[in-house]
Amino acid sequence: MQSDHEGTTPPPKPRRWATQLIDGQPRDVKLDAEGTPIAVADWIPPLELLRPDRCANCGGRRVSQDLDVTVEGGGVRDPSPACEGCGMNAREDWHMHMEITHKLRAGSFVEAADKAASMGQQVLSLKLATAGVHYGEAPDTSRRQRLRQLDAVGARVTALQEAALWLKETKADPEVARRVADVFVRCGLEAEALVALEDSVRLHPHSPQAYAELSRGLRRVGRFDDALRALRQVFELPEGRPHGERQLHKLLLALWDDNRSQAMLSTFDALAPHSHRDADACALYAQALEQQGQTATARRWVQRALSLRPNDPELLRRLATLEEQLGVASTVAAVPPPARHEPE
Ligand SMILES: [Zn+2]
Repeated sequence: MQSDHEGTTPPPKPRRWATQLIDGQPRDVKLDAEGTPIAVADWIPPLELLRPDRCANCGGRRVSQDLDVTVEGGGVRDPSPACEGCGMNAREDWHMHMEITHKLRAGSFVEAADKAASMGQQVLSLKLATAGVHYGEAPDTSRRQRLRQLDAVGARVTALQEAALWLKETKADPEVARRVADVFVRCGLEAEALVALEDSVRLHPHSPQAYAELSRGLRRVGRFDDALRALRQVFELPEGRPHGERQLHKLLLALWDDNRSQAMLSTFDALAPHSHRDADACALYAQALEQQGQTATARRWVQRALSLRPNDPELLRRLATLEEQLGVASTVAAVPPPARHEPE
């Protein structure tokens, strides 16, 4: 909004682009000198590398305009500079994104961005995620959302540059490294993902989360031996146990799914005593032993799993089956009926 310049000749207003909502859809509108729309274009996504000094809407440069050049000693600077690209200042930009957020019946930019993405409106989602980053709403979530949407609209190079910048800014914080690595993996850049996770370990050598994320990343690219090494380091660190326990069963399951039951058995042994405290891990171990014909040992591990998760119907059924095969007296008081598929 420009103020009136009574008694003076106002500086000519240039033609400019502004983002406006038309029938509920954001559009880039070209305005003439009087502010009358003369052209409408599709919205331009904010594909520029995100910078705090740049426009949240289009990535353009924000410039302070002299509102009154007739004042001696220089004009009065607009305290809220307008963008060279789309003409909006930060307040207008914020209001426009809030308006869209309300129209989407969302309570936040992050939520609105999710809704837009689920409706297939990837550019709009990118816009909203960018507003989330720009206005500091749930910064980590917004930022990950923006990276995902940049990739979704085909701006992969910017996504990767921005991911690298984010890592640098946070000194490869383990949580950020995890999110950035996920973006890299989705872009098919597995080596870059591992570099990010390794950097995080290097810069945070006492963080169990950093090692746990590295283990997860190695597991996901099939480097199971290295994943095991990283996971063992997690358990060696103080406070490492909860982080390690979250990865333990997943590593064993990945080996099992990859038909490496022998490697799974030795990994289970290598992770003792932690693996012995995980009911899922013990049950999987029993399954591999059973497959190798070691029925008696398998029975012991099912019993172990049951001691960790008493009355689990699936484990009780497996124990009953194993005892029947072994011809020993059943220790299962009542075998529950086979699993029923609950109606949705
Ligand atoms: Zn702009």
